[in-house]
Amino acid sequence: MKLYNSLSRSIEDFEPYSPKEVTMYTCGPTVYNYAHIGNLRTYIHEDILEKTLMFLGYDVRRVMNITDVGHLESDADDGEDKMLIGALREKKTVWEVAAYYTDAFFMDFEKLNIKKPNVIAKATDYIDAYIAFIKGLEEKGYTYLANGNVYFDISKFKDYTKLSKLDLETLKIAHRDDVEEDAHKKNPHDFVLWFTKSKFENQAMKWTSPWGVGYPGWHIECSVIALNNLGEQLDIHCGGVDHIPIHHTNEIAQTESFTGKSWTKYWWHAEFLVEESGKMSKSSGEFLTVSLLESKGFDPLSYRYYVLNSHYRKQLAFSFENLEMV
Ligand SMILES: [Zn+2]
Repeated sequence: MKLYNSLSRSIEDFEPYSPKEVTMYTCGPTVYNYAHIGNLRTYIHEDILEKTLMFLGYDVRRVMNITDVGHLESDADDGEDKMLIGALREKKTVWEVAAYYTDAFFMDFEKLNIKKPNVIAKATDYIDAYIAFIKGLEEKGYTYLANGNVYFDISKFKDYTKLSKLDLETLKIAHRDDVEEDAHKKNPHDFVLWFTKSKFENQAMKWTSPWGVGYPGWHIECSVIALNNLGEQLDIHCGGVDHIPIHHTNEIAQTESFTGKSWTKYWWHAEFLVEESGKMSKSSGEFLTVSLLESKGFDPLSYRYYVLNSHYRKQLAFSFENLEMV
């Protein structure tokens, strides 16, 4: 089998670390709202990848995280906490919101005939493991404490841009007027491993740690959940293409700093779903969900069929006219 590897930006022969087994990690949803069908497109493609590997005789072990803590509006540690946004919107606790949208997410999986991963790991179940991981990084000198938060110092990891291929000198972190650069970071690309001093006074999810009461950063959960369930070296890591410059880049930096080993062999990224008309969701306020497809008379499998006929590395233009009734 050949696979396009985002790390090398080329098609490579697929040779897992172990000849018969494949370990596969899939970044999961932040469960504060229904899944958009654009996100579900990524999971459909990942499903096809897993089933193809199984068809070829590999024993696949696949893990997915469920983000129920720590994911802010911006992947670069800015904005409000997404779970808190969901809780305030629905006048529920963050725990209730997480439980409700996790169930909704897997209902979508069923409707789209997506196989559930072998391991589904809630971020909040791994708090002790994050603390142990951060302590490990701290001992090796990769972290610093500023404004109460624990940051990862990217200047200590020599190959920070090996996946993103970005030039950090010219990349501007504060590209939006409403996103303020964190003045406590030594480098604008340093990222939070553990939040304690938080502007989110209403944060309901918090735990004691050696650095004070707080909660984990978002990027750490995928590294720790993958290490705990799939070992120190991983064959395939999947996710949306938007995760390349920050989330996956940070995952690599902290994981390889922790283990001292090369981590993921194949990075696999699915492209965006774009709206063909460019106005559908904005003008009508419609949020593109599986339920919306059903309310318009489409079987969700119509959407799966449509996605399967697209190339995962190309943007896919969506309009209801493109769907066939199946
Ligand atoms: Zn992830």
